[in-house]
Amino acid sequence: MTDRRVRVRFAPSPTGPLHIGGVRTALYNYLFARQHGGDMVFRIEDTDSNRFVPGAEDYIIESFRWLGIQFDEGVSFGGEHGPYRQSERRDIYKVYVKQLLDEGKAYIAFDTPDELNAKREAVANFQYDAHTRMQMRNSLTLGQAETQRLISEGQQYVVRFLVQPGEEIHVHDIIRGDVRVMSDILDDKVLYKSADELPTYHLANIVDDHLMDISHVIRGEEWLPSAPLHVLLYRAFGWADTMPQFAHLPLLLKPDGKGKLSKRDGDRLGFPVFPLEWHDPKSGEVSSGYRESGYLPEAVINFLALLGWNPGTDQELLSMHELIDQFDLAKCSKSGAKFDYVKGQWFNREYLLRTDDAVLAPQFMALLHEQGISTTPERAAAVVGMMKMKKINFIKDLWPLCDFFFLAPQYDKDDKFTRKNWKEGTAADMLALRQLLEGIDDFSIEAQKAAVDAWAAATGIKPWNPWRVCLVGTGKGPDMYELAAFLGKDETLRRMDAALQALA
Ligand code: GLU
Repeated sequence: MTDRRVRVRFAPSPTGPLHIGGVRTALYNYLFARQHGGDMVFRIEDTDSNRFVPGAEDYIIESFRWLGIQFDEGVSFGGEHGPYRQSERRDIYKVYVKQLLDEGKAYIAFDTPDELNAKREAVANFQYDAHTRMQMRNSLTLGQAETQRLISEGQQYVVRFLVQPGEEIHVHDIIRGDVRVMSDILDDKVLYKSADELPTYHLANIVDDHLMDISHVIRGEEWLPSAPLHVLLYRAFGWADTMPQFAHLPLLLKPDGKGKLSKRDGDRLGFPVFPLEWHDPKSGEVSSGYRESGYLPEAVINFLALLGWNPGTDQELLSMHELIDQFDLAKCSKSGAKFDYVKGQWFNREYLLRTDDAVLAPQFMALLHEQGISTTPERAAAVVGMMKMKKINFIKDLWPLCDFFFLAPQYDKDDKFTRKNWKEGTAADMLALRQLLEGIDDFSIEAQKAAVDAWAAATGIKPWNPWRVCLVGTGKGPDMYELAAFLGKDETLRRMDAALQALA
């Protein structure tokens, strides 16, 4: 089996927006597939029609497009193992359900929900299994003829897997090592329901992993309890030789480490738990997303990659290429990973600093637009470049730091910085500086700097802080020459005049 082609799948159920934990699962599958030159399949597990949510599938596809996680096959990507939406594979599953029935490895059960509930109430810890199945209404107790009669009468039924007691089941997990359980603890799981003519998750998942030639099943820890049943199903079908290898990823925990991360933690502490904003089609509720909150996709990828795995060095900033190169499934942690969202913000800041200003400009322009300001992409990029090294985690944090680039300041004699820097004689100094600047033709940073520095040296005047008062109105902003060059000569002189008037 060692030279088997690596084929992994991400197989969400379209029951709502993709949770950030699901994104991490997909990312680990992607890193593993790319590392081994293998394939990544996108399958939609929509056999539970009650839980289907319109729009969820498109949302998931758009999330991965934004994040740069690419699939090789699957829903919307095509491929030779389709269809990749389980609701379009009904006929395939029926063949395999029939195979198990014909071979006596599954049986038909008629127990209604009410009957099952009554049983659960009567018997503590009731489980439908070898000890109880002969007390129930199924093909094993009713016999072939009666079973056929009930079906032809139109009675709804389910198909249950017949779990033989006393078998040892061995699950090998790449992350968790060997897990051994006895088949006795399992119940006779429902594999198929006549009511909607659809299989349940377990059957569809196994049949598809087999038919799609999946070599590794990398998924969240919440699926670990299903693994023994899945092993039994592989055996029952005679596919044990090509059974995928399992790797169950650690849970994402609340920021304080106590319990599983939930949407409520995000709401409470103010961070998104979904990749994109989600508008719930039923309730109309809007949940925030990483994209709309101003995260860069590279930052989200880097942050998620390190929740449950690390490269074993001090390196924290890893590009997708480096992650593909260094990722090691076997070194994923077994214990849950705390969702340190503050670290996620730090990653965003680091990626902002490393991202081209022109790429960041559209986000900043949108922010300006909300303030009723329109500017060119070049000017937006210039401001981002001057200001992004200030303490910001998101482009949206820039507005309060950058308003004066676009709006003439209000002057306030009581402003602390102004009071400290606008003294007697300052007005005269600023008037002199104004005259000097008016005489400069080349208003570039370099030319201004040469002229002003020379003048300052000759006169002993230190004009920079009062000049800042003139152009900004207070003690914030970039280097004065950068700012004046950005504003241009006319606006610079206009602001100096306004300040001289207001602060006289
Ligand atoms: N449909 C399951 C889910 O929603 C897939 C679990 C698996 O990967 O086996 O996560």
